[in-house]
Amino acid sequence: MTQSFWQDFKLNTETTKLQNYDYVIIGGGIAGLSTAYWLLQKDSKLKIGIIEKNKIGFGASGKNAGFVTCGSTEHFIKLKDHFGLAKATEIWKFSEDNRKLLQQHIIQDNADKVDFKSTGSCTVAANSERWAYYQEIAKVMRAQNIDVYEVNSQEMDRDFGVVGFEGGIVYAGDGYVHPIKLLSQFLNKINVHIHEQTAVQSVSKKANGFTIKTDQGEISASYVVTTVNAYLPLVNPKFASLIVPGRGQILLTKPLQQFVKGPCYLTKHLCYFRQLPTGELLIGGFRNLDTETEKTHADNITDIIQKALFDFVKNHFRLGAQAEIARQWSGIMGYSPDGQMLIGAQPEEPDLYYIAGCSGHGMGLSFNAAKTLVDGIYGKAIPEHLDIKRFKV
Ligand SMILES: Cc1cc2nc3c(=O)[nH]c(=O)nc-3n(C[C@H](O)[C@H](O)[C@H](O)COP(=O)(O)OP(=O)(O)OC[C@H]3O[C@@H](n4cnc5c(N)ncnc54)[C@H](O)[C@@H]3O)c2cc1C
Repeated sequence: MTQSFWQDFKLNTETTKLQNYDYVIIGGGIAGLSTAYWLLQKDSKLKIGIIEKNKIGFGASGKNAGFVTCGSTEHFIKLKDHFGLAKATEIWKFSEDNRKLLQQHIIQDNADKVDFKSTGSCTVAANSERWAYYQEIAKVMRAQNIDVYEVNSQEMDRDFGVVGFEGGIVYAGDGYVHPIKLLSQFLNKINVHIHEQTAVQSVSKKANGFTIKTDQGEISASYVVTTVNAYLPLVNPKFASLIVPGRGQILLTKPLQQFVKGPCYLTKHLCYFRQLPTGELLIGGFRNLDTETEKTHADNITDIIQKALFDFVKNHFRLGAQAEIARQWSGIMGYSPDGQMLIGAQPEEPDLYYIAGCSGHGMGLSFNAAKTLVDGIYGKAIPEHLDIKRFKV
């Protein structure tokens, strides 16, 4: 098992524990904490228990790159090709709203405490053909009121520190955060009961609510929300065809002089990078080099991917030659068949809710996804492309 740089920051999770709750949330990542936040916004008296197999932030929420982004230009192209322009824009704006909601409700004036910075993000074009296409797409995005602009190779070198590419598209709205410090800010805002080191084994319906069987004994709740993301098929095997795990690996260098302004995507290599406020260069991706091996729940790193990450640092960054490795880790993402999240309850199991499948974008989606779920519980329709009911389980 690997430990991320972020997980060195210790969370205060001391709370009382109850046996009986209004809501039990299974999984202590950003989706679980976000769900608790929105439920308490509806009714501050709710008794909520969060059950976490390991520690809060043990999963992808403590292992990610900390991009709070809508995704890359390439991501927008995929959405447009799959769903059409109007839906692609709606999906993009859902992430935009996610960031704004996080800023309004959770980060507020504590940006420094959670290392949040609004920097914009850059998608680097892999070759001339892609660069020409990106420039067309930038026009399409601007026509949808998405705030993007082009940067040439000199500007990419100056602002994002990356060399050897012709140009890129900057989306002005994005930013980055320290993922575990963000979870700490959530914990300051929600009055919940936390059961760490407690693995849920099964959830069964009883006359009035649910019995949640764990390795530490049984707990009861009127409602259950499962937010275990990639681990969903392990908790409930009937989801095996709907959520496929995908491991992501990250390499962090020792601090370098500041030279990368904000998050960058280079989708040719499924690779992404940023620099921390303290100078460390963080780079992740290259799953495409070993796709089948990376479809796993095993939290470890491999030579093939870590070598590709470090080679990229050496060859494509102005300061790459000086870089030394400080930390390497991995985390597990959950992918749905159409790349969109699964939110809500199934018709035959009302009161048993799910949020899953936020792929590599949970920091950019989960807070708004949890709002969507809670609004759904309180009667508002969940958009069809996110509703879990679009798939038969
Ligand atoms: C390497 C990497 C880089 C990423 N980079 C970014 C990024 O920069 N920006 C972005 O937006 N997204 C990124 N992501 C994706 C993002 O981290 C995830 O989408 C998001 O964190 C998922 O949050 P979650 O709460 O749904 O799941 P998780 O954070 O995985 O939480 C699920 C929790 O459920 C717990 N659990 C599992 N089984 C049980 C059980 N039986 N009982 C009790 N608890 C259980 C787990 O221990 C875990 O803590 C990245 C992911 C990875 C792996």
